[in-house]
Amino acid sequence: MRDDEMNTPDKPLTAAQAESLTATSEPWLSCDDCFDHIDSCVDALIHDGRGLDEPMRVHLARCPACYEEAETLISLAAAGQGMSSGQGLNAFRIGLGLPVRAQTERRTGQSSV
Ligand SMILES: [Zn+2]
Repeated sequence: MRDDEMNTPDKPLTAAQAESLTATSEPWLSCDDCFDHIDSCVDALIHDGRGLDEPMRVHLARCPACYEEAETLISLAAAGQGMSSGQGLNAFRIGLGLPVRAQTERRTGQSSV
């Protein structure tokens, strides 16, 4: 007899519970969702100068992994648009509501908190 083949009538989490967990005060996005949208967001940002969706903005502002991914994509998209990657990244940071950084080649490997 294997337990994992049984149909469990009660799910550990109902949809409503899951929703209340994910519906925090700020828009929440998983890294997967972020990754799904990042291409089009970067595109919109670089090509149309459009800002980021609120959930994307919130996620990128606090998720270093996705932020780095976004930076990489921004640099590539900026280059394709004849922008310097610094210009692209500045547009990105403005879109995120972050202060624009002077163009220094700082690696984010060591974060001094
Ligand atoms: Zn993330």
